[in-house]
Amino acid sequence: MNMQAIGARVSAARADTLARGETFYPGASRIHLAAFPPKERWDNWTYLDSKRVGRRAMLVPTTCFNCESACGLLAYIDRDTLTVRKFEGNPEHPGSRGRNCAKGPATLNQVTDPDRILYPLKRAGERGAGRWVQVSWDEALDDIASRITTAIAENRPNRIMYHVGRPGEDGFTERVLASWGVDGHNSHTNVCSSGARAGYHLWMGIDRPSPDYAGADVILLVSAHLESGHYFNPHAQRITDARARGAKVIVFDTRLSNTATHADHWLAPHPGSEAAILLAIASHLIQTGRYNREFVRRWWNWAEYLASEHPATGATFERFEQILHDLYAGYTFDFAAAESGVDAAVIAEVAEAVAGAGTRLATHSWRSAAAGNLGGWQVARCLFLLNCLLGAVATEGGTYPNAWNKFVPRPIHTPGHPPVWNELTWPPEFPLALNEMSFLLPHFLKEGRGRLEVYFTRVYNPVWTNPDGLSWVEVLTDPELVGLHVALTPVWNETAYFADYILPMGTGSERHDLHSYEQYDGQWIGFRQPVLRAARERLGETVTDTRQVNPGEVWEENEFWIELSWRIDPDGSLGIRRYYESRERPGQKLTVEEYYRHIFENSVPGLPEAAAAQGLAPLEYMRRYGAFEISSGVGAVYEQAVPATELADIAEAQFGRVYTRAPAPADPNAVPVATPDGDADGRRPAGVRIDGIIKRGFPTPSGRLEFWSRTLAEWGWPEHALPGYIRSHVHPSALGPDQMVLISTFRLPTQIHTRGGNAKWLNELAHTNPLWLHPRDARRLGIAAGGLVRVETEIGYFVVKAWVTEGIRPGVVACSHHMGRWKLAGPGGGGPGQAAAGPRQVAATVDLAADGGQWGMRRRHGVEPYDSADPDTMRIWWGDVGVHQNLTFPVHPDPISGQHCWHQVVRVRPAAEGDAYGDVAADTGKAHEAYRTWLRRCRGAAQHSPNGTRRPYWLLRPLKPGKDAYQLTEEPVVHARRS
Ligand code: SF4
Repeated sequence: MNMQAIGARVSAARADTLARGETFYPGASRIHLAAFPPKERWDNWTYLDSKRVGRRAMLVPTTCFNCESACGLLAYIDRDTLTVRKFEGNPEHPGSRGRNCAKGPATLNQVTDPDRILYPLKRAGERGAGRWVQVSWDEALDDIASRITTAIAENRPNRIMYHVGRPGEDGFTERVLASWGVDGHNSHTNVCSSGARAGYHLWMGIDRPSPDYAGADVILLVSAHLESGHYFNPHAQRITDARARGAKVIVFDTRLSNTATHADHWLAPHPGSEAAILLAIASHLIQTGRYNREFVRRWWNWAEYLASEHPATGATFERFEQILHDLYAGYTFDFAAAESGVDAAVIAEVAEAVAGAGTRLATHSWRSAAAGNLGGWQVARCLFLLNCLLGAVATEGGTYPNAWNKFVPRPIHTPGHPPVWNELTWPPEFPLALNEMSFLLPHFLKEGRGRLEVYFTRVYNPVWTNPDGLSWVEVLTDPELVGLHVALTPVWNETAYFADYILPMGTGSERHDLHSYEQYDGQWIGFRQPVLRAARERLGETVTDTRQVNPGEVWEENEFWIELSWRIDPDGSLGIRRYYESRERPGQKLTVEEYYRHIFENSVPGLPEAAAAQGLAPLEYMRRYGAFEISSGVGAVYEQAVPATELADIAEAQFGRVYTRAPAPADPNAVPVATPDGDADGRRPAGVRIDGIIKRGFPTPSGRLEFWSRTLAEWGWPEHALPGYIRSHVHPSALGPDQMVLISTFRLPTQIHTRGGNAKWLNELAHTNPLWLHPRDARRLGIAAGGLVRVETEIGYFVVKAWVTEGIRPGVVACSHHMGRWKLAGPGGGGPGQAAAGPRQVAATVDLAADGGQWGMRRRHGVEPYDSADPDTMRIWWGDVGVHQNLTFPVHPDPISGQHCWHQVVRVRPAAEGDAYGDVAADTGKAHEAYRTWLRRCRGAAQHSPNGTRRPYWLLRPLKPGKDAYQLTEEPVVHARRS
């Protein structure tokens, strides 16, 4: 039976159940899952354990932290021992609806990991020597705080940097940095999703899509979304529902991913040619007149485009249509076929499917092609072009701007914008980069662009995750460049080995966070909480510090940042302490209790009422249920008429942009989140006039969907101002006769980058990353299945095993970045209470040596059974843990989006004599040359800024500085601290 037939049967079974009047789970899951304990009995629930023994549990919700989806979890806390026995799904969570992937329940492995870091550790030898001593939290906090205080007092704010991988929260730490007055936020985003974000942001002023899969007729994915895309579990279940209804799924993936196996149409293009196919589909819609003419007329900025680029023609919509026709006429199916290697007839078939979707076209591109290629941001721009042509924007079954499907409540204190610009993260060469140029940091430091006095890494492992990790090792071991490196992490990682302090932070069930992500057409908040703290409080105990319930001295970051900030400014003279003071107890320290109580009581519409209906306070409600749905069916916000109360002393710019002097609405989600410039007289953007009515529109400079980007045109890139095709750095014309393309961007569905650590269930499921190689290439190269292969990049090579499979396009190889963990051989010893400096279930033990910039890594052994408090560690049967390929990649910054372009041009050969599995070699001198080469593609702000600023003010920036800091100066700007 095929999947659609199964889906139809499931739907019919549900309908039968409803008809019989049987009980559906009443919570947000809205589905019939009899296995969910009714929430009225969560205080005392009896279940059978794996040995069929009845156990009494208190069920406490929290949020998974093992990917960005933030699915709900329910911790089963044994009522007799007050320990967590297992994690299951939380049916009260509107996004994940009670379901999890394998990584959710594996949170338990992380809690009980015998190798986890339980106490603050301080380096006792050279950085990287592997010697650690346990220190108190007080010692670590005082040392770190005094260095930060000094840097601030000496007006060197750019020497403080916080570098985060997975934030897992909405804005807490950005506000911490803002309160310190530093532009010190650094993220991983430019090695992840900036390419796609740039493509979306240039269209709609919001940088992420929120497809309404559940209502779609056609779903077009440029990613492996069913198994590993952004928000993949909540999305995958809605895609599956849509398929059961009969929706068609189209997948672009050079590799036969699990997602591709479920597609109605699977296209395996040459890497980097995806935009060419999308443009051919767009052209088909245009040439055949099957686009939503009225939507395009009303919502595209075509008039602005004509005025700027075709001033001599009449500014009529009909004239624009003629030009549009001509612009895309060359993107034929044959052109796309020649670029992509996909048959023209297949592309034509897919184009017909898209044309038939109308406003029910849900599309998504994440990482994948947008993260792999030079110009990858155009993949997202061309994909969203299809939505914009069909009018499938914020429609049922269409694609929403993400900001309308999430909710960020107002916190108790809101510090102002930092008055400073940090060129180590926002260098002048990349004025349009969507996020911090984080992966170039080692090169900037080596070039003398700055020095770090205090450098935090948090849930981030750049030595392993980023390209060119050995350049990171070089700067992290140089105290002249990095004064103090503090690693905030629950588990050992390759970057933490080179830290000065390792501070143990809680897993997903040991910390507080608040989040909301776009997973359907609705808005919700989820509450991550330390489940043992919540359980003890429910039993009447008072807990004042999360360390009182966590294992060892594991803390949580909310309390850590509050305490650190208090110590940075103990008497309040720096103006920092006020952001950490209680409102209820003036002059005293804010508690996390009060922080969240304030938000839930004052800033989440509907929550106080919903809580009161159950006789609960809002915080109590969130502690009990873990999530709250604020609204569903948000709809097309851009079409809303702006109420008269928001319009005062309005001014109207050319093409209909309307500005107002009325204050912004109090509800932060009443309007889109981006901040286009106000007008010259200080008014703020209010909306855009469409056919005589002022509508909310989009947060772009024009207020419309920007088919033509004035920003690109004015900031040095006029040739890319329209959705178009940029040939990738791995285009066939760039390859030598013996070269291939390596795809390294794909995830393994059951791994978690590096923070999974010893998640034993997951490591047993997936623990290697062989090289996907087509049989034709294997024959040509003389490589047998399972044979050792040397993959040579621009700066080195790695040695891996071949997996010969027809699931990859000939001429292309692929290797998942999700494996290849390592720990250094050497003295080892993780300090008191620690068995070893590294996760022994997932990391090989290696020797790492350098001769000048020539680095070599060889493994001593893979993983082995070992004795620990967990008897399962003696049952480890796998020895392989994969190969670390990212060390052999140089940086490839896209000059517009700033995204690292991951795809590599490589030579693949049988392993040479003396090569061993897992060998890695890399030359950091060549890596720096590659960096300099790519830097030459840039068009920097100094030459191309149209207005003397560093960056268009309207573009999103996490932790946006004050406007003054945007002015270009000879020296990095350090303005006086605000009062
Ligand atoms: S998709 Fe899986 S890993 Fe991600 S949050 Fe949900 S349960 Fe956790």
